[in-house]
This record gives sequence, structure tokens and C-alpha cells, in this order.
Amino acid sequence: MSTIFGPVHSRRFGVSLGIDLSASTKQCNFDCLYCELAPAPAMAYQHTVTPVETIITDLKEALDKHSIIDVITITANGEPTMYPHLTKLIEQLDTIKDSIQTLILSNSACLSDPTVFDTLLKLDQVKLSLDAATPAVFKKIDRPDEGIEIGIIIESITRFSNLFEGKLFIEILFVKGVNDTAEEVKALNSALLSIHCERIDIGTIDRPPAYAVQGLSFEELYLLSRSFDPELPIHIVSRTHTSASVSTYSDDDILTTLDKRPLTQDDIRALFDTESKQRFENLLRQGKITQIERSNVIFFTPSKNIDRKRAK
Ligand code: SF4
Repeated sequence: MSTIFGPVHSRRFGVSLGIDLSASTKQCNFDCLYCELAPAPAMAYQHTVTPVETIITDLKEALDKHSIIDVITITANGEPTMYPHLTKLIEQLDTIKDSIQTLILSNSACLSDPTVFDTLLKLDQVKLSLDAATPAVFKKIDRPDEGIEIGIIIESITRFSNLFEGKLFIEILFVKGVNDTAEEVKALNSALLSIHCERIDIGTIDRPPAYAVQGLSFEELYLLSRSFDPELPIHIVSRTHTSASVSTYSDDDILTTLDKRPLTQDDIRALFDTESKQRFENLLRQGKITQIERSNVIFFTPSKNIDRKRAK
């Protein structure tokens, strides 16, 4: 089975070639309620390990076939930082990648391991999951292997965010009735305020989950997004945009809404009715709304808001 998949086009990361560090079986130190893979007990170590040479050979073949690649994404059927040869793999990737960016998608659990921490510092982009901030909810949603503590994970992410020179993204996946309570969002908000990152992607279940749990609607996600501090770079990532119901917004409503939380074109399409979209376009033409880019994602925000933040 090849260790390489794609290319796939991701709006957030561009054209991506994926490396699967556990291609034949699920190997993870979590057993998340929402996992797209079948449920499996969390484990501490990879039992099946692919040689680095196999991965590099597969990757070179794929790069020969596909000339336009923005990013090489290191992932796994499970947790990629459990791969015992990650440092060697990333060193070898650096010798063949040219201008292509390297990205890892991690559940953050191994970041307290100094070797993993130092290895991830060498990447161009890192995406870390943080689904909960309190021990009880963390255990309930991510079902981690014994000894993995959320307090240590948050401390490691914070330390990493202060040292990492590349682009750091945080991802939170919300499960209905589990980590979407006001109390948990408050705890997440407080943890996030100490983390320096490009973007915080919040999403929900959009594929069949490992266990019988439910996702949130786009409206519910949107309301949750407004509970976070307005300074946090929250971005709603959800295929449930299409099922959202539209509302009417006055000019003032639009500016106040964008002031609380910058929105993307997809959000606007999902939330605004036809007249409100027209008002939004007029405000944009009048220069009252402006665009900001956060790592490939365009957000709209009131121009006054930008001036206020620059003036700080
Ligand atoms: S960390 Fe990822 S692979 Fe592991 S159980 Fe959770 S969702 Fe599945």
C-alpha cells in the first residue's frame, strides 16, 4: 500500500500531497468520539512502522508525476507524531522538497516529548488539535491513552507557539453536548488567549463518526464562534454551511457582526439573505468593509475595526 495520497486541493492549505505514516492500520494515542476511522483502543506506540526509505521512494515517485504541489502534508491513520522516525523523515524531506511547504496534522498529545517538540519546530506549517481544555471533557471527547493530560498539552502548545517560526494553526472539533458548553468554551477561550497562531479553525462532525455522537448545525457553530474573544482569529470550517438558514441584516447589523467576528465569503453566503448580501456589497464598495487574509483564507471586517487594531 502506497504511503502517499493525493494530490488533493485544500482551500486552507493549497494543493497537497499527503504522507500516511500508518497506511495499513489505525494507530493512535486517542480514540476520539468523532474519528472518521473505526473505533480502536488508544495505544502508546506504533506497532507497525513503515521504513523512512519506503516513504521517501514513494514520495519521489509522486513528485515526479505531479509538478504543482504547494504542501507535503504529514498525516496518518492515527497520530503521525507517534511515528518513531519522524525526525529522520523530516530531515530527508527537507533535502528534496525545494520550495514546497511541509505541514503536519497532529492531535498535540506527543508535543510534550522534547524530541517531537524540536522536530515539529523544523516544519513550515503545523496544525494542532485542541478539542477541550478541561480534563473531564478532554477524556470524554478524545478518549486518550493513559497518562496523557490536557494541562500538559496546553502548556506544550503555548510554549511551541512562542518558539515556532512557521505557521501554526489550531483546530477544534465540536461535538454536540460534549465540548460545546459555555463552561468548556470559556476554558478553551482562556487557553487560546495564551497561544500565538495564524488561525483557529472550528468545525464539527461532517463524516460518519466512530461513536454515536452528533455534530452542530452551522448556526450553532456560528453562535459558538461569537462566544470567543473577538481578538482570536477564529475561522468556521464546516460543510454544514449549505444547510444554514439565511437572515436579514441592516448596514449596522452587518458592521456590528463583522466587528465581533470577521466572516468569510462562505459564511456570508450561508448567513445573509439576498438583500443583506446587496448591503454587504455596497458597504464593501464604500470602503466601510475591508478584506484581511489569514493564511489563504479571506475574511471581511469593518475598516474602522482595522484602524482601531492598528492604532493599538
Ligand atoms: S486523533 Fe485523529 S486519528 Fe486519532 S482517534 Fe482522534 S480523530 Fe481519530
